[in-house]
Amino acid sequence: MGLGRVDVRVEATHVAKLSQRIEPYPGEVVLDAAGGALLPGLHDHHLHLLSLAKALDSIPCGPPEVSNEAQLTAQLKRHAATAADDDGWLRGIGYHEAVAGDIDRAWLDTVVPDRPLRIQHRSGRLWMFNSAALARIGAGAPPFHPGADLAGGRFLDADDWLRARLPDQRPPLRLASARLAERGVVGVTDATPSNGLSDYRYFAEQHARGHLLQEVLIMGSAELRLAERHDGVAVGPTKIHLHESALPDFDDLCAAIRLSHGAGRAVAVHCVTVAELVFVASALAEAGHHPGDRIEHASLTPPETLSLLAAEGLTVVTQPNFVFERGDQYLVDLAAAEQPWLYGGRRFLTNGIPLAAGTDAPFGHADPWRAMAAAVNRHTRNGACLNPDEALTAEEALALFTGPATRPGAGSRAIHAGATADLCLLDRPWRDARADLAAVQVIATLRAGTLIHSPQ
Ligand SMILES: [Zn+2]
Repeated sequence: MGLGRVDVRVEATHVAKLSQRIEPYPGEVVLDAAGGALLPGLHDHHLHLLSLAKALDSIPCGPPEVSNEAQLTAQLKRHAATAADDDGWLRGIGYHEAVAGDIDRAWLDTVVPDRPLRIQHRSGRLWMFNSAALARIGAGAPPFHPGADLAGGRFLDADDWLRARLPDQRPPLRLASARLAERGVVGVTDATPSNGLSDYRYFAEQHARGHLLQEVLIMGSAELRLAERHDGVAVGPTKIHLHESALPDFDDLCAAIRLSHGAGRAVAVHCVTVAELVFVASALAEAGHHPGDRIEHASLTPPETLSLLAAEGLTVVTQPNFVFERGDQYLVDLAAAEQPWLYGGRRFLTNGIPLAAGTDAPFGHADPWRAMAAAVNRHTRNGACLNPDEALTAEEALALFTGPATRPGAGSRAIHAGATADLCLLDRPWRDARADLAAVQVIATLRAGTLIHSPQ
């Protein structure tokens, strides 16, 4: 793999030149790769940005991270001292009385006096607000909520009431985006089925403000076909969520597929069971194909489904990280006869089925390198080996995350003069990286020629 040791020049948004030796221009920024591998920037082909941001932007306020009052105080003060996003809110989750008793407005004010802070009880039913937060939502003005203890800043079963007073529940994306950039991710496909025009505009706005560093392909509802053009966000396939327990009418599914294809959009169908897979393959055979039609997860693929997938030209977007994260549970929950069908890798490639991957973050761990490692070693967290015959080579695992956004299984993008400078630079040569992908550190990440993660 690769071109050996070369210098690479990036000009504006593109790779301008690759050569054995390039003399820097006066004043040109030079990044010393020190022999580390330069790779195409990664694209996570299936994740959920808003959920990921929410998970990252929330402060754990209960066990196991926080178990006493001193720890909670330190945890809140540390977060309060970090740079605030524009709205300044701090949001804690998972509180339990075992930590510091029935904390209230007065207690919160002593710890965080100057930023709006709200903490959710582990039960999900109770919120505790400091004074700055109460002022922000105008809690002292009617209509009042029967479950509200304004003096104490405690709100029981008041989520609807609170939602109406909190400005925008969409979390800032800056932290999630920065974390992805640290792992070499230059693009993501947001696979949230409910995504509509307002979500699309939110991503575009966060991108324009520089909070969202990645290019986004947004899947979602049929209304996305009406989206206006914005930089940094493109409309992807229509997401169709199937559930075996309540499959849609076959003709309705065919009509939805035709509507999407008619609007120039592929479909991406969530399939975790064999019945779901067979159902959607039949619907696609009936409604017709569109380039880029894809199956999300394809968790179980017995041999007879492989020819169906191949015949319909479907791309499979898998989550190899689930082998590691959920493998042990699968081995307990699934009948022995079904276990060989779980989370394929090799079988897709040998059957000519385009294969790509996403982490499904935050429902899976957001680190693509961990996912790649699992695609290669097939290890579960407890050290079992899940269907080792499905193992991929390190190069094949990398290609799962380096295919183009709209043709995820088409194989890795190449680095050549004239290519968009979407790049990631590793801390080690590829021959070392391939031996343990989970250990890889990313030194620098460039999206369209801009450093979105730089050396420390
Ligand atoms: Zn998902």
